[in-house]
Amino acid sequence: MISLRDSYGVVPMFIDGRYEVGGDKRLPTYDPGLGSRIGEVPVASTSEVDAAVRAAASAFEKWSRLPIYERLQYLVRLKIVYEQNMEELAKVVAKNVGKTVAEAVGELRRGLEAIDMALASPHFLADVKKVMNIANTEPEIDMETVREPLGVFAIITPFNFPVMIPQWFIPLAITLGNTVVLKPSEQDPIPAAALGELFQKAGYPPGVFNVIHGDGSTAEALIKHPEVVGVAFVGSTKVGEKVYALAAAHGKRALVGAGAKNPVVVMPDADLTNSVENIATGFFVMAGQRCLAPGNLILVGEAYEKFKRHIVERVKKIRVGYQLDPNTDMGPLISSASKQRVEGMVTRAVEAGAKPLVDGRGYRVEAYPEGFYMGPTVLDEVHMDMEIAQEEVFGPVLPIIYARNFEEAVQFANATKYGNAASIFTSSGKYAREFARRVNAGNIGINMAIAQPTPHFPFGGRKKSFFGVLHAQVDAVDFFTDRKVVMQRWW
Ligand code: NAD
Repeated sequence: MISLRDSYGVVPMFIDGRYEVGGDKRLPTYDPGLGSRIGEVPVASTSEVDAAVRAAASAFEKWSRLPIYERLQYLVRLKIVYEQNMEELAKVVAKNVGKTVAEAVGELRRGLEAIDMALASPHFLADVKKVMNIANTEPEIDMETVREPLGVFAIITPFNFPVMIPQWFIPLAITLGNTVVLKPSEQDPIPAAALGELFQKAGYPPGVFNVIHGDGSTAEALIKHPEVVGVAFVGSTKVGEKVYALAAAHGKRALVGAGAKNPVVVMPDADLTNSVENIATGFFVMAGQRCLAPGNLILVGEAYEKFKRHIVERVKKIRVGYQLDPNTDMGPLISSASKQRVEGMVTRAVEAGAKPLVDGRGYRVEAYPEGFYMGPTVLDEVHMDMEIAQEEVFGPVLPIIYARNFEEAVQFANATKYGNAASIFTSSGKYAREFARRVNAGNIGINMAIAQPTPHFPFGGRKKSFFGVLHAQVDAVDFFTDRKVVMQRWW
């Protein structure tokens, strides 16, 4: 199942511990570097959505009552099986998503860290700050809070991290005693389907972890299902807003990570060599298809001339190619539609006055003419009122914006509807501190283009980058559990 192949046929769902092929209709899934179909994704019927949720609900009865240390043993085995299969799984991720194998390995390592975080679940259940126990609160009455799992959670995930993002939620949710139904992106469902095998090998009881495939309609049916208590969603802002509203309308709790436009500010006093390398590569990791990908490069005062030339020189060295080729630095975009969308944004930016210093539109990799490739693109003379400066591109584009001073840079950094991450390059602690205080984003990077926290920190954004109160990763302990107050009097 997990191994690298040319074709995966109909990608199976994983319901109640068994793989099954189903679906009302089928959608194609691709190897984006070849530009060819490698499988078909079934769109789960209403009865298949129902079967998966019922399997999870039925498993919850026993699973939630298992001693926490027993649930932990399953997770320990999952970690071992996951590590044993990481190399093969990375290649499958690379093939279906279009990221390089090195990027896929990086993703899987992050997924492993999420398992490590979830291994602390007994401590989370006993969290001294949030679990209280007071004797004689009133005469002969003792009160205590008990943290409990809630039931079946829907996990709905985007295409760009088909293993890591499910891993942010699933190990934690189930080790705390819940059961889950995962609906991965229909664009690259193969790695998520492979996860079923890992859960089987780890010995999990049927129904604890389920995978169904499909599109937005499948996801909506899952959220609305009466037995689903909550949804952890990660994806675009447009869809995230809908999911948040739908969850609220149906009385479900929701944790919604959404789109981004992450500013990177460079002050004139920034370290030239280290900053250039970090920025020029940071913009193009995974061809810019990350929620933490830098979105705008804001060069302040003298930094404008000082950094621009070096960044362009470095960007020109990025090798675009097939994602499984070890000499490739940057692979293709996820789909032909995505390539057209990003190229269209670049064209509109140029029409609006931006100057291409490196133009990746129409890029072709000779050996793979059908692949969804676009070359790295650097646009100069971008202004904050242009679409390319305001909207998430999710592609290999580096827009350069000039700011006269620090004040203006902070203003620009806060001037989009998003607030996922923001970074500053400087050797001044004062600027760094001010930036961290005044920029309205969930993650702040100082001298790093990609500000990604590890799973022991909460992960979320501000403004249109996040909807909900409880963030992902360790914060989700509160999302996946609730505290009940038990008051006891014994005569
Ligand atoms: P997307 O919003 O198109 O799809 C995400 C998921 O939502 C998919 O599983 C899709 O099938 C499902 N979906 C589609 N319509 C739906 C509907 N009406 N109701 C419920 N679910 C529906 O996103 P994508 O293109 O797969 O991923 C890229 C986006 O994800 C970018 O905007 C990126 O910034 C964002 N992202 C955010 C984070 C974060 O943590 N904030 C992390 C990774 C990606």
